[in-house]
Amino acid sequence: MAKDLTSREQDYSQWYNEIVTKADLAEHSSVRGCMVIKPYGYSIWEKMQAVLDKKFKDTGHSNAYFPLFIPKSFLSKEAAHVEGFAKECAVVTHYRLKVDPETGGVIVDPEAKLEEELIVRPTSETIIWNTYKGWIQSYRDLPILVNQWANVVRWEMRTRLFLRTAEFLWQEGHTAHATAEEAIAETEQMLEVYADFAENWMALPVVKGRKTPNERFAGALDTYCIEALMQDGKALQAGTSHFLGQNFAKAFDVKFTSKEGKLDHVWATSWGVSTRLMGALVMAHSDDDGLVLPPKLAPIQVVIVPIYKGDEEFDKISETANSIKKNLESKGISVKYDNRDTQRPGFKFAEWELKGVPVRIAIGARDLANQTVEVARRDTKEKAVYEMSNLELKVEQLLEDIQNNIYSKAKAFRDENITKVDSYDDFKRVLDEKPGFVAAHWDGTAETEQVIKDETKATIRCIPLNNSLEEGRCILTGKPSTQRVLFARAY
Ligand code: AMP
Repeated sequence: MAKDLTSREQDYSQWYNEIVTKADLAEHSSVRGCMVIKPYGYSIWEKMQAVLDKKFKDTGHSNAYFPLFIPKSFLSKEAAHVEGFAKECAVVTHYRLKVDPETGGVIVDPEAKLEEELIVRPTSETIIWNTYKGWIQSYRDLPILVNQWANVVRWEMRTRLFLRTAEFLWQEGHTAHATAEEAIAETEQMLEVYADFAENWMALPVVKGRKTPNERFAGALDTYCIEALMQDGKALQAGTSHFLGQNFAKAFDVKFTSKEGKLDHVWATSWGVSTRLMGALVMAHSDDDGLVLPPKLAPIQVVIVPIYKGDEEFDKISETANSIKKNLESKGISVKYDNRDTQRPGFKFAEWELKGVPVRIAIGARDLANQTVEVARRDTKEKAVYEMSNLELKVEQLLEDIQNNIYSKAKAFRDENITKVDSYDDFKRVLDEKPGFVAAHWDGTAETEQVIKDETKATIRCIPLNNSLEEGRCILTGKPSTQRVLFARAY
């Protein structure tokens, strides 16, 4: 098959788009900024969902579903929230179309104007807290630990497949608690869940940290995040967990009676990851031959390709291939036997490489005679001859090795691309010459952050949670600072 991918070196952004489309993950739709997620891409998303969903349930959460539409007045109830989201809202004004008698075209029926306009949810805090008001009266009703899997719409101006789309799929957790401490513990717990998922399933090393007030979620008191580094040195916010304080409870008048009989507003959190994670997966691991998938999230973990001449050989090889497939499947490994007679082996090799299948097993007539197979791993492209006996155990081990290797490689890259700088000149030079995270002192003000952003396009990705305190001076103003923060240009 014709792979002909643009290389990362040539044009990273083009390389990314080509992988997403050619590996059949997604394509642009006829609706601006909205994508079609294709079956192969969706099956990866489903694997992500399944793992995350289990983690949410293991930490005590249940799934529920709230409406797609939010009355406009709800959004205005929390001042910071509406200010943050107003510019990105799609609004429903009418509920009916009609045929224009003059032109014969379809027009909006002016008589079908909604009394109150509806917003297509950009996030669901408002509709959910309006609902929680009816669910919460006393401390006995708390905590509420709910998650929703849904689509949301944010009218983004500059979009990119998976990483930033106008409509995207995500999960949003919304929890209600009796105390601030409990809500903060929940916020931190969900950040850990995300970091664990990123590192141990996506093989994506992340920095856990907090956002600066400038970069906080609109309406949050504190935003925790996981930040990852892509191969071009740009950062990507991979997940967020917000401590919302009592802001939404106050806006929607949600109070509870405590054990001591005192009336107080409820404490809230929200947390989300989106289909952006698919983009992160592609950008973090893939190479110039296509996708590289971590085995734990690969819809097909092993592909078997027969190499044969004539029907008789094909039948014999197929018999062995099917029995290998069965043995592998008994170990919980997902296997595809690519027995198409319409494509040559070379074409199949390239296609499964492009699609990131972690392990390829090729079986030819000589292999049958020797009771061996040729095994190729996608991450390093190494090939080896394996004896057929106990093949499933060896493949199981190989998949584990690949998962670990992909993670180590991404981690080594990330660690090499965190650069400490102590002057603004060095800061600017490093951003251009060695893109990645730049660890620098900052005076803690929104003004300084804004100037640096305007001048360099780099933003403070986070204040790392595991930061060690260190005396220093702000790279822009020279004012004293007690810790370094991570800057980067970001997606
Ligand atoms: P937020 O509600 O803004 O904290 O975002 C929750 C999650 O959705 C974060 O992990 C964001 O990175 C991700 N996200 C935000 N905007 C988009 C978008 N336009 N497309 C895809 N993912 C997004």
